[in-house]
Amino acid sequence: MLIAQENELLEKGFIDAPIDPSLDLFAEIERLKKEKNAVILAHLYQEPDIQDIADFIGDSLGLAQAAVKTDADMIVFAGVHFMAETAKILNPSRKVVIPDLKAGCSLSEGCPPPLFRKFREQHPDHIVISYINCSAGIKALTDVICTSSNAKAIVESFPKDQKIIFAPDKNLGGWINRTTGRDMLLWNGACMVHEIFSLEKITRLKVRHPEAKVIAHPECEEPILRVADFIGSTTQLLAYVKQSGYQSFIVATEAGILHQMAKQAPSKTLIPAPPDNHCACNDCPHMKRNTLEKIYLCMKYEQPEILMDEELRLAAKRPLDRMLEISAAAGLL
Ligand code: SF4
Repeated sequence: MLIAQENELLEKGFIDAPIDPSLDLFAEIERLKKEKNAVILAHLYQEPDIQDIADFIGDSLGLAQAAVKTDADMIVFAGVHFMAETAKILNPSRKVVIPDLKAGCSLSEGCPPPLFRKFREQHPDHIVISYINCSAGIKALTDVICTSSNAKAIVESFPKDQKIIFAPDKNLGGWINRTTGRDMLLWNGACMVHEIFSLEKITRLKVRHPEAKVIAHPECEEPILRVADFIGSTTQLLAYVKQSGYQSFIVATEAGILHQMAKQAPSKTLIPAPPDNHCACNDCPHMKRNTLEKIYLCMKYEQPEILMDEELRLAAKRPLDRMLEISAAAGLL
């Protein structure tokens, strides 16, 4: 790649090349998958077309596990940057590309490694448990990683009197504190999507749909979690909609999940919980930076690629391995 093209890629975050409008992008992406022995891993918050061309759809944990297992030469990660980084940490021999390098995350960006290092140094008697939604730099400063599926089990694997710093999500950490009786020290980070649900609008929806169960992701703020009938990770919310005997749900998480819920439980009624603005549902602007066009171009040019210093990769892998060990011992894998 020429230096000028590389600079443009870094500035824009994605390949900006013309695409013949008569191309069938779905067919072209399938062709590129075969030609390049590539696999597309997509997060459940991606737009429906991207979910439909993916080889594996899941939440952060499921995608990390799929990244370990794949024997494809190239992993196309339709998600946000920290997730593609996690795939590279776990599977360094594969080429990992992401449609848009600037698909970030407010949780990850709200916890810069230099500041967090100082915070950790101020509390030398604490261990660090970090939510997987963080950069490789934060993972390298962490003792054990967790996801929203296994966070409680990870925290409870330590003795009650163990002092713990939990980063970067204060809402997930607060929920674990309340449900486990812990007093973890919380980094002050939050997900920009989950912290803006409107309690007032959800309360009004509950009045209009008294039969509907409110289901919420633990990244939501405490007042929303207090009115929730079920709290769980993205995958747990999907399973609850499919398996519970209830018919109607007010869904307080990113709106992309509604596509899989509607596909996997077509007879159920799904009502997106509204945010505290003029929108009817809540989309993550980072997740939605990915498009079919960007996926096609990143497969064709095999750029932008996730590259990582080996020392950082090994330091970031240690707490991920620890998470997998604790999860396996708790029967969660
Ligand atoms: S939904 Fe929230 S936690 Fe997930 S990628 Fe977007 S900003 Fe980050």
